[in-house]
Amino acid sequence: MPKPKTPKSEPASVPKDAEFLDAPVSLLPSVAAKRQKLLEKLSVYTISDLLSYFPRDYVDWTDVTPIADLRDKEVMSFQAVVRRKPSLLRKGHMSMLSTVLSDPTGTIRVTWFNQPYLEKRLEKGETFCFRGKIRRDGSVFDVTNPAIQAAKEGVTPEILPLYPLTKGLSQGVLRQVIASATEKGVPLIPEVLPPAILAAESLCDVGYAYEMIHRPTSWEAERKARERLVYEELFLVQGGLRYMKNKKRGVEKSYRILIGETEKKRMASVVHALPFELTQDQNKVITAILQDMKKESPMNRLIQGDVGSGKTVVAAVSILACALCGKQSVLLAPTSILAAQHAATLGRLFAPAGIAVALLLGSTSAAEKKRIRTGLANGQIAVLVGTHAVLSEKICFDALALTVTDEQHRFGVRQRATFLDREMRSPHTLVMSATPIPRTLALILYGDLDISVIRSIPAGRIPIETYTASYAEEERVFALVRKQLDEGRQVYFVCPTIDEETHLDEDFSDESEPGMISATALFERLRTEVFPAEGVGLLHGGLRSSDKDLVMRRFIEGESKILVCTTVVEVGVDNPNATLMVIENAERFGLSQLHQLRGRVGRGQHRSVCVLMSDKRSGVSGERLKTLCKTTDGFQIARKDLELRGPGDFFGTRQHGIPALRIANLYRDTDVLSRVTLALDDIYAEDPLLELPSHRNLPEAFLRRFGNRLEHPSL
Ligand code: ADP
Ligand code: MG
Repeated sequence: MPKPKTPKSEPASVPKDAEFLDAPVSLLPSVAAKRQKLLEKLSVYTISDLLSYFPRDYVDWTDVTPIADLRDKEVMSFQAVVRRKPSLLRKGHMSMLSTVLSDPTGTIRVTWFNQPYLEKRLEKGETFCFRGKIRRDGSVFDVTNPAIQAAKEGVTPEILPLYPLTKGLSQGVLRQVIASATEKGVPLIPEVLPPAILAAESLCDVGYAYEMIHRPTSWEAERKARERLVYEELFLVQGGLRYMKNKKRGVEKSYRILIGETEKKRMASVVHALPFELTQDQNKVITAILQDMKKESPMNRLIQGDVGSGKTVVAAVSILACALCGKQSVLLAPTSILAAQHAATLGRLFAPAGIAVALLLGSTSAAEKKRIRTGLANGQIAVLVGTHAVLSEKICFDALALTVTDEQHRFGVRQRATFLDREMRSPHTLVMSATPIPRTLALILYGDLDISVIRSIPAGRIPIETYTASYAEEERVFALVRKQLDEGRQVYFVCPTIDEETHLDEDFSDESEPGMISATALFERLRTEVFPAEGVGLLHGGLRSSDKDLVMRRFIEGESKILVCTTVVEVGVDNPNATLMVIENAERFGLSQLHQLRGRVGRGQHRSVCVLMSDKRSGVSGERLKTLCKTTDGFQIARKDLELRGPGDFFGTRQHGIPALRIANLYRDTDVLSRVTLALDDIYAEDPLLELPSHRNLPEAFLRRFGNRLEHPSL
């Protein structure tokens, strides 16, 4: 961050108005170096970032109610005098502080747990405002852990913002810092929405919105402000993606894949060699893809299909079509295990047709890498399979026609691979996703793409049965495992952590909790105590990839009967003889992730079971587990997942390419999102490259919102 050039001792020469917003937060008198560091943790670098650091919620001190009128089970505010010197009880790390409060209409008992520091603040005879969930039994009132606020006489009660915090930065400080920037900063924020849209949507102006979002004078003001800011954010993000797409359209050219009679025959013979018939939906999707690839404009298609719906073969046939026309393809997988599996599947399938498949991983030897690069450059290798990470390196192709990205349920992990083609053509792109998302959301995430859905599940599949079990029932679960093993089947145990210290699962990268079952510990226990006579394998992301391959191969070949693993198995591993999955500490996993994990069983003709081990039955985690027991429909599960945790989490924090949303919530704000989509449809229909005077400032606004890196993430 560049320091402001002006020394602080000369307040007269602070940066010019236009520069104020881009100045580092340290320009503010209330922000010294230490505080600046803390703000950076919140991704707040400039004053503009600070003003766009929106409250996550508010406390309402406007509805102060006499004690006698407080209602049971409601969150309410009241103003009262401290009647007694508070009493503090301590026990170990725990403390309990209690006292009695009163106003002219009644008294209420109050208790705070683990906030011993309040003792000093609550002097007998002083008046404060309190806000919390009231318990009322007749005329006996009670409240636990209420928020507390100095009662300011003669000042109108306010709605106060609550910001997301970081350790060392308090609510009070953040409020003060933000407030200190609003007076000068807010009037400088440019209006980016076209006037026609402001009028048509009756949105409030930008200054009002930024002022009211931080310090609303009423709930109505807060609603107006939020509506506008959500609109603006979705407009800039979606508008930016579509602008990029429009600029590329007509410029980029792909190879045309034209299937003649000979190619058709050769394709049919490969498809006939499959051990199954394609489902109706698989055929439909393949037809759509072949149709797209006939054209010179690049295909940009998303395939949504539940786990186990058979997406791989759809990708395989698309790749085959390209190869038969003498063109190359790339298949990107999220893990090296899956990449290896895909390479093996394609290799087997394509061998009779004489199509060469290469696998490129981080662990591939330098000599082999060189051989692959040469083969790709001269066209001898038709298909390249690898992980996203490896294939972000520059690779030159002879004639690259298609890239397929298998991203399973993870979204947005979309490092832009730089593939160079001899003719500088861009490949057709196909993205395969196992988590279905509504069209409107897909538009935000992937830009303006086409979507195909595979709904039908291959015939003969027996739905997986899912149960929950508590740790008190572990013996019964082991008995179930024993029974499966006796029948010749195999079993997965999935754990949330590798060992007690490391915790590699990105979705839950907070500290590991005591009592969490680690793969290493469970592996030792199963191997030595519970199933000493069976082969037990251990698979996790910390292993070298050659070791991972070995462990996987032993399991697939039946040498080990039990596989203890972390979520590394969630993507793709295919062992139809595995019929039971036990998921440890199931409450630690997300809903879609559990569904994906569970999809590792139920892949063959045997009845399969998934057991969710957890002692947590209440709250959101309880609801996740219940949903999973009730349905195996990935579409329903994804919807529930969105509902339970909101899209921010749902899409993961690791998305690249699209900026993180600051205020819009793609689940809650779908209505605004549709309005934005329609408005953008109109704008781009009339002015695809934003050349009219009323639109000319938009590209600049998009660029700012994307942090000056405007790139289409799905291309
Ligand atoms: P996903 O969509 O989860 O990637 P896969 O492509 O891995 O699913 O397919 C899951 C399993 O179903 C594989 O073993 C595959 O061979 C099999 N499969 C795919 N299509 C069919 C079909 N039409 N009929 C029967 N089995 C199929
Ligand atoms: Mg798959």
